[in-house]
Amino acid sequence: MSTIAPPAHGPGRVRGVDELRALAEDAAHRLADADAGEVLAWTAATFGRNVVVACSMAADTVVPHLAAQHIPGVDVLFLQTGYHFAETIGTREALAHAVDVRIVEALPRLTVAEQDTEYGPKLHDRDPQECCAMRKVEPINRELGSYEAWITGVRREDNSLRANTPVVEWDAAHQMVKINPVAAWSSDEVMAYAGTHGVPVNLLLDEGYPSIGCEPCTRPVAPGEDPRAGRWAGHAKTECGLHVAEGQDTIPVTPTALPSRTLTHLEALESESIHIFREMVSELERPVLLFSGGKDSIVMLHLAAKAFWPAPLPFPVLHVDTGHNFPEVLAHRDATVERLRLRLIVARVQDYIDDGRLLDRSDGTRNPLQTQPLLDAISEGRFDAVFGGGRRDEEKARAKERVVSLRDEFGAWDPRNQRPELWNLYNPRHRPGEHVRVFPLSNWTELDVWRYIGAEQIDLPHLYYAHERDVFHRDGMWLAVGDVSRPRDHEQVERRVVRYRTVGDMSCTGAVESAAITIADVIEEVALTRITERGATRADDRVTEAAMEDRKKEGYF
Ligand code: SF4
Repeated sequence: MSTIAPPAHGPGRVRGVDELRALAEDAAHRLADADAGEVLAWTAATFGRNVVVACSMAADTVVPHLAAQHIPGVDVLFLQTGYHFAETIGTREALAHAVDVRIVEALPRLTVAEQDTEYGPKLHDRDPQECCAMRKVEPINRELGSYEAWITGVRREDNSLRANTPVVEWDAAHQMVKINPVAAWSSDEVMAYAGTHGVPVNLLLDEGYPSIGCEPCTRPVAPGEDPRAGRWAGHAKTECGLHVAEGQDTIPVTPTALPSRTLTHLEALESESIHIFREMVSELERPVLLFSGGKDSIVMLHLAAKAFWPAPLPFPVLHVDTGHNFPEVLAHRDATVERLRLRLIVARVQDYIDDGRLLDRSDGTRNPLQTQPLLDAISEGRFDAVFGGGRRDEEKARAKERVVSLRDEFGAWDPRNQRPELWNLYNPRHRPGEHVRVFPLSNWTELDVWRYIGAEQIDLPHLYYAHERDVFHRDGMWLAVGDVSRPRDHEQVERRVVRYRTVGDMSCTGAVESAAITIADVIEEVALTRITERGATRADDRVTEAAMEDRKKEGYF
């Protein structure tokens, strides 16, 4: 490693090693049966601010809360490996707001990108010991060197290596005092404390992750499994190397003879979507992919390209152009078509308005006018399957859809008359004139889409990231000022930093205020939001409870 290490945050040690060791040995004896409050009262009296709490932002957030009762503003050390779940980052933010602590981040010398360049991508899969050594052990050793004592959330029930953990001990590896105030607690006691005192804990705990580390090295565990079985699954590694017992030089790590291969959540979603594409192309004669240039259709196209790579895409893409598109989206659409050498079909709402087949609406929005051009394009192209980027988490009508959804000879959908869809068995059978809509992203969430965009480094139109724009406020949304969206007399134009969570007709697609300028920022933001992108930023979906379902029955996506 060549990069200079970032400076440590602690006040620096005052006592010598012999004095610290004597303190630890004396307290280990006197406080062996003390409760967490007594142990932390001694810690505060002995070390003041010369102590730091290590916290992984799982359920161990109770430890900073306990410590802050005795040491207000106590330093909380968070290992910023660059590989955390968005939920973990969200927990860190929530803790900083809820509890009187100072979060200090231990940073590796190399960024993830620098490590990838120097050691090759996904070192965590090939050599997790080396990866942990660089991203966890070295940074925390550097930070701990500037304190006399550290407080951990280690508990005896974590695993067999921790079964004899004392509440105070001499940490020979770091030459400092180590305090484990919740060593004797059960996980039920930890969660009860968090509930009683309103301490934020990681949302993943409710999703089968009793132990949470870096995203690539953590999977959920099944009921009855060892709580740490989800850490480095497939490797014999069970500890990252931070908690080394006296007399134990290193944590034993040996690859298992036959490592199991468990798909990550994103890999499972990708695999399912690719299966859907291949299955439909083999079953049907004339598919087409609906491509708007928005993030979902870009991800869908990326998956389709992967499904058939290195062959070209075996179907064209269809864009129903409202004439009210964001220019950035059209530019991105055209660049994508060029890059992948796609056949693009454009059905223009404006053509229908010009020749009188459709009338512009009084509210100026054109999203609802897309249905007829879409159905005509499907009919003219004799398409029997139309891939769409709809996801079940977007809104209620989409949640009712099957992955493969029948449309009658008029393009209409009857939500009461849907086919059973068992496991991954899809039924695209239809009569002449009918067709099926296919939704390969059905089981994805907005957060999954963004995580995949991050993992695959998929290029998106810039308006998905925070940027300055002239906007005005209407119906709880920020609408862009443009030819098709003009402020009314009482509406004030303001220059705001915004981004779009979804893109569609400019006249009814709102932006949200956001400082998210990178994919990681957006993932963090989406992980914390509780409103779907359509609910938050699409005026046409808010007209009635069933606005989308009514349109879908008529043939809309
Ligand atoms: S837990 Fe995995 S990703 Fe994190 S530092 Fe260790 S090996 Fe690397």
